[in-house]
Amino acid sequence: MSHPIIIIGSGLAAYNLARELRKLDTATPLTVISRDHAGFYSKPMLSNALAGNKSIQQLVMKSAETMASELNATILAHTEISAIDAAAQTVTINDGRVLPYRDLVLALGADPIRLPLSGNGAAGVMSVNDLDDFAKFSAALEGVKTVAILGAGLIGCEFANDLLARGIKPVVLDPSNWPLSRLLPAEAGERLAAKLTEAGVEFKMGVSASAVDAIEQGYALTLSDGSIVTADLVLSAVGLRSRTQLAAAAGLTINRGIVVDRQLQSSAAHIYAVGDCAEVAGLTLPFVLPIMQQARALAATLAGTPTVVKYPAMPVVVKTPACPTVVAPPAIGAEGDWQVEIADDGITARFVGSADELLGFALIGAATSQRQAMAQQLPPVLV
Ligand SMILES: Cc1cc2nc3c(=O)[nH]c(=O)nc-3n(C[C@H](O)[C@H](O)[C@H](O)COP(=O)(O)OP(=O)(O)OC[C@H]3O[C@@H](n4cnc5c(N)ncnc54)[C@H](O)[C@@H]3O)c2cc1C
Repeated sequence: MSHPIIIIGSGLAAYNLARELRKLDTATPLTVISRDHAGFYSKPMLSNALAGNKSIQQLVMKSAETMASELNATILAHTEISAIDAAAQTVTINDGRVLPYRDLVLALGADPIRLPLSGNGAAGVMSVNDLDDFAKFSAALEGVKTVAILGAGLIGCEFANDLLARGIKPVVLDPSNWPLSRLLPAEAGERLAAKLTEAGVEFKMGVSASAVDAIEQGYALTLSDGSIVTADLVLSAVGLRSRTQLAAAAGLTINRGIVVDRQLQSSAAHIYAVGDCAEVAGLTLPFVLPIMQQARALAATLAGTPTVVKYPAMPVVVKTPACPTVVAPPAIGAEGDWQVEIADDGITARFVGSADELLGFALIGAATSQRQAMAQQLPPVLV
């Protein structure tokens, strides 16, 4: 029997790839190895699970056993890979077992960035980047009245909106002047802030936390302007960093992510990377739509038809029901200007280039109904 294709990871990148592969190739042995439970769940649901009143069990859509039988795969849960030998085409499990592979796919995800906070409460700052984190966060919410959220990006705003469903007051802190400042022009960001504020979120913009101290009940956060905010719990949502350590130790080329070509192949033969850990054409895009494109392309390549990944325009729906928001940011470095139309029930912001072409957009409130029509006018992200 030939050696298997081994996928490390059991997140959306790993399982989307496994599913796409099985559509094209039902025979090649497939092994999925994950240091977590390896159940299938949708990570985006973690930031609106409180409103949906979902238990941890309900969030797991399929157990590792069900996935193994559906995919005709061997699934090793709670199994961490500690080393890759690219020349010998083997991986080492942390109990010392060595497994050979035909092809290896790294679907390792990304780690939450931790701010360099001082104070004796810094270690108690939580982040939610997987189901186990969410289980801890959700258990810690018992009896909590206020949560300080570090970061007013997508994840910070979504958790803020979601906490309202539990009657908990979120206080969102961010050094920028408006939420989602890297994705929205000022007028749109200010509308988002106003709508979330109306719903019960408090924003403290233009400040960052420098220290978190444990106090008798909860935490005291010292901010960059010298003021103090107290909260029962602190959640950090300041961004992600691709998990590259395993690949770096194996000698693979690393930049912001594990560097792969358009066929998702790393600098080593027979090793590929997909999802939040991968950097494709200079882009690390920690979202579901790029993962789907990568999974389809890599499945075809692994099934014998070398295929490059292409990205269409990929708008992101922000899960803030208090203020429906969709963003399709222009490419980094794109030249152009925001043209913003403001109405009582929504905002349409177009990022337009010198030839009057649409390069990106942001839609707020009722304007989100234009999402599909405007997405069709956008250039693809990767042709
Ligand atoms: C709260 C939240 C909300 C989000 N909402 C949206 C949204 O609305 N829309 C959207 O497009 N995107 C959203 N995202 C982003 C999206 O969920 C991610 O891009 C996607 O889930 C990443 O999948 P992944 O498989 O690359 O990584 P992960 O799901 O992180 O999976 C990584 C896997 O690797 C395993 N692993 C890591 N190291 C090892 C090792 N050494 N040995 C064995 N196993 C290992 C882990 O156990 C895990 O199974 C959200 C993210 C978060 C955190």
